[in-house]
Amino acid sequence: MQGNVQTHPCKICHAAEASIIGTEDRDGSPLTTVICTGCGLVHTHPVPTLEELTEYYTLHYRQSYKNTHAPKPKHVLRAGQAALERLERLASHVPAGGTLLDVGSGGGEFVYLATKAGYQASGLEPNEGYADYARAQYGIPVQPGTWESATIAEERLDVVTMHHVLEHFQYPLSALIRIHSWLKPGGHLAIDVPDLESRRHSPGTQFHYAHIYNFNHVSLKAVARKAGFTPVDETVQTTSIVFRKTHAPDREMILRNEENYRHLYGMMLSHTRLTHYTRLTPYARLWNRARKYSREALALRAQPSGREILDTLAA
Ligand SMILES: [Zn+2]
Repeated sequence: MQGNVQTHPCKICHAAEASIIGTEDRDGSPLTTVICTGCGLVHTHPVPTLEELTEYYTLHYRQSYKNTHAPKPKHVLRAGQAALERLERLASHVPAGGTLLDVGSGGGEFVYLATKAGYQASGLEPNEGYADYARAQYGIPVQPGTWESATIAEERLDVVTMHHVLEHFQYPLSALIRIHSWLKPGGHLAIDVPDLESRRHSPGTQFHYAHIYNFNHVSLKAVARKAGFTPVDETVQTTSIVFRKTHAPDREMILRNEENYRHLYGMMLSHTRLTHYTRLTPYARLWNRARKYSREALALRAQPSGREILDTLAA
């Protein structure tokens, strides 16, 4: 899995050379993943076209975006638990009360819990079934669509949140620049994406066709900086980061960071299956998962509605 390829100019550093770090996805299907030699941004190569992505989602998720369906109770419970953690992190930087938009709001769990916590929250969700469910179940405003199609007035929002969304975008820089225009001056942007430096996942399960871009904290901060954002806390070394709108976006800004490339490339080469499975973490994870599933089964025995599940969690 070695060798270099020519790519389109990198979104962060404009370099056009990348090293191959993967040739398969987590199911063993062919998928070339590369790392930019100029900055360490990791992405699928080549970046899929819109037509290819649409075909992928239709084939693999067997759903068109028009289908009506609701999230299962266990998914509401897990998303609700994650939403409470996100809210706690957000509240330490942004007091409740402001206007909040959750981009990629899914089943609406975060928007509902944020509303209960005092934010004027709404959602934006491409899957119309999920958007319908969230409106009906929780009585929250959810606009169906994507960041490209959304109609949101300039400088209207205090906070935008995105949970495991940015890695799916073909144009993450363009998306962040658009979001920048929706925020009031000094507004906040809370992003969570999977962390390339997290060792929790086995190396073979890391890459995924639908995750076009893969970030560590350095590359996530770099793309956000080009879009006009600065981390509230520069010392954060994970990919759950709260940013502030601080300056005008600049697509021509060149943020080279060869050290980040060398660091990540070296980490990927040394993180083999052997070193992974001789560490304790994967086993602890399996054990925790088994315990979690039995607790979930108990909690959901009475077949509560989504709203009942979230009300109980937030109580
Ligand atoms: Zn780069």
